[in-house]
Amino acid sequence: MVHGELEFRLNDREYKNWLKAGRCLLILKDGLHPFVNNRMRAFHRDLLNKNSHLRTPCETSSCKPRANKLSRVCRACSLWQTVILSHHRQPDSTVNWDNCSPPSWRTDHWELAKVIRYRNELMHSCDFRVRDDWMRRYQTSLTHLVRQFSNIPEMAAVEQQINDMLSVDLSIYASGQDQMDSADSVGLESDSASQLKISADLISQWEAELLQERLQELLHAAAAPVDDDTKTLDAEQLMTLGGFLKANRDLAERFSAELQAIDSLKA
Ligand SMILES: [Zn+2]
Repeated sequence: MVHGELEFRLNDREYKNWLKAGRCLLILKDGLHPFVNNRMRAFHRDLLNKNSHLRTPCETSSCKPRANKLSRVCRACSLWQTVILSHHRQPDSTVNWDNCSPPSWRTDHWELAKVIRYRNELMHSCDFRVRDDWMRRYQTSLTHLVRQFSNIPEMAAVEQQINDMLSVDLSIYASGQDQMDSADSVGLESDSASQLKISADLISQWEAELLQERLQELLHAAAAPVDDDTKTLDAEQLMTLGGFLKANRDLAERFSAELQAIDSLKA
């Protein structure tokens, strides 16, 4: 079977959870992007207009978080940090600073929006598996988030797509053995054997997109100078991901170039 290995992976419930949760983030991102982009650009412009000191470039061009903490940054980045915190909706909650780039705050309004805890937990899950109880908390948070944007007409469709994705059993489609009515709204058709094959192709494509995103993130981190702790953690995760890809022949073929890059880093 063409998708035999994918089917095997999807028999692992927690891996399937990981894939579905990642897919939901992309659905959410695509749905929110036009709105958030406009709002963040306006917010960013407003901050710069109100506080001319925020126009000062980063003094080092290399201020960055350590683990998820942001300390020992230059005066310019420290000012941005203070302003971001003052606009945080829940001042007492933890702000995850990892994954952000302080020198870009002045010029890139999207950098302001990266404080997304679930995305980090999901992408940093070292074995690409998440448990059912995590999924339940995730679904509650996603629903809560989507409903905060209920004034945007497109969000009703986003909520529906997310609910479909969380309730669909992907392993059925990868094996091509069964049919489900709810599948149509997530882009799957189940009327014929040939269409089922397309469905498995689509799942395979989703999986590849997620793995590619994580690979690029880790390869990028491996190439950038960081502190020792972060570097060790990223290197370990990169090796784990490389091992996972190698253990799955279809993924090893698809990501052969990235695996070569990992091997050369190891060397
Ligand atoms: Zn700085």
